[in-house]
Amino acid sequence: MAWDFSTEPEFEKKLDWIREFVREEVEPLEVLFPGCEFLPLNDERRRIVDPLKQQVRDQGLWAPHLGAELGGQGFGAVKLTLINEILGRSPWAPIIFGTQAPDTGNAEVLARFGTQEQKDRYLQGLLSGEIFSCFSMTEPQGGADPRVFTTRAVRDGDGWVITGRKFFSSNAAVASFFIVVAITNPDVAVHHGASTFLVPADAEGLTVEANHHLVGALPHEPGHSVVRYDGVRVGPDALLGEPGQGFLILQTRLAGGRLHHAMRSIGVAHRAVEMMSRRAKSRFTQGSALADKQLVQQFIADSYTELMPFRLAVLHAAWLIDTVGEHAARTEIAACKILASQVLKSIGLRAIQVHGALGTTDQLPLVNVLLGGVALGLADGPTEAHKVNLAKMLLKNYDAEDPELPSELLSVRQEAARAKYGDLVTSVPSLPDSP
Ligand SMILES: Cc1cc2nc3c(=O)[nH]c(=O)nc-3n(C[C@H](O)[C@H](O)[C@H](O)COP(=O)(O)OP(=O)(O)OC[C@H]3O[C@@H](n4cnc5c(N)ncnc54)[C@H](O)[C@@H]3O)c2cc1C
Repeated sequence: MAWDFSTEPEFEKKLDWIREFVREEVEPLEVLFPGCEFLPLNDERRRIVDPLKQQVRDQGLWAPHLGAELGGQGFGAVKLTLINEILGRSPWAPIIFGTQAPDTGNAEVLARFGTQEQKDRYLQGLLSGEIFSCFSMTEPQGGADPRVFTTRAVRDGDGWVITGRKFFSSNAAVASFFIVVAITNPDVAVHHGASTFLVPADAEGLTVEANHHLVGALPHEPGHSVVRYDGVRVGPDALLGEPGQGFLILQTRLAGGRLHHAMRSIGVAHRAVEMMSRRAKSRFTQGSALADKQLVQQFIADSYTELMPFRLAVLHAAWLIDTVGEHAARTEIAACKILASQVLKSIGLRAIQVHGALGTTDQLPLVNVLLGGVALGLADGPTEAHKVNLAKMLLKNYDAEDPELPSELLSVRQEAARAKYGDLVTSVPSLPDSP
């Protein structure tokens, strides 16, 4: 019997270590260095952050998303889920464990599609956590539909010239290099006409025009940038993969990344449920604790009944990736991507409500949960587009049938049942004729 929800005792010990380490050592960084996760380390932060990263390395837990060939542990997706759901509790934890987005996805495509020279140039710094990277795809005129992209890369000798503007390129302000999606062949569908390029941050013609911040972010955070590529000249070695492979590469990058976000979202939501539960037991109003009010109990129960199926869905998608591969898990990954946003929004909202006015302030990390859910409904593609894709994948499993005689119609089933067993029974009960 292969279904098994248990964790090997050895691995459970590692998870116990991670839980305690994140709670005791990492969560304090949130208030010591708020919003500094993606800033290059200054001496002060390095004094604290480097030894913490070393402890993670010493435990054999650095970059748990990577296979052994890239210096990771080769844990696979299920174990990664169990780790990431703990790391999701704190914005600093993915940095301390070397598994932060968008660098994880960027490292994965470099590892998969990069030449040895490209890997030597960019991958090592990324994997060691010393540099950050940026994925630059969305454009000011739209992100959900790549057919609106106009950024072009045109051949120039044996190299390329990139021209265009990108919008919401996260961490552009601190990235050492950019993975840029540009149209190389406008005469074919974008799925075959886009390519990806590795562009160093100091390339001539690359300008970070503006940084946008999510509400509540601090001004020093790198945020999400408008980036101008003004005739950026790159060599032939800047092309990642083959010309026209851009869409394939970005799909590869986004698929794993979407599930990583979902894994971490379990931890974010779990922390909010814990906060909501403690508050419900601590706060008294109108003669009893909030925890004694049925409407608040409903908040707790509803949150649990959303969080647990979401967690199981993510673990199941991860298990599919481990057992049959990422391609076979596409439907489940899409479902998890949709659920992550939904679960964070509804649990975040309830947690705020139970905390009353305090819940709406920057003194508690709860509005971030709600906003995180809103952002996850857009980042890596909007929920609506994912729903459309999910529905298409699901509908492929079904054939059309006679609209007047659907296969589950009683008369159709009776006829089929009679055809199968009719001669073995003396009388087949039938409904009286309809009036
Ligand atoms: C926190 C955050 C980080 C991000 N980081 C990056 C990054 O690092 N790099 C990058 O390139 N991009 C990034 N993005 C951008 C993100 O990929 C886009 O926001 C997303 O693809 C949607 O594009 P858009 O915002 O232009 O919305 P639009 O394309 O204008 O779509 C707007 C809305 O239209 C609706 N819609 C779209 N398609 C459909 C459809 N098929 N059916 C029904 N309704 C639909 C949806 O409601 C959608 O939200 C980030 C976004 C966020 C919020």
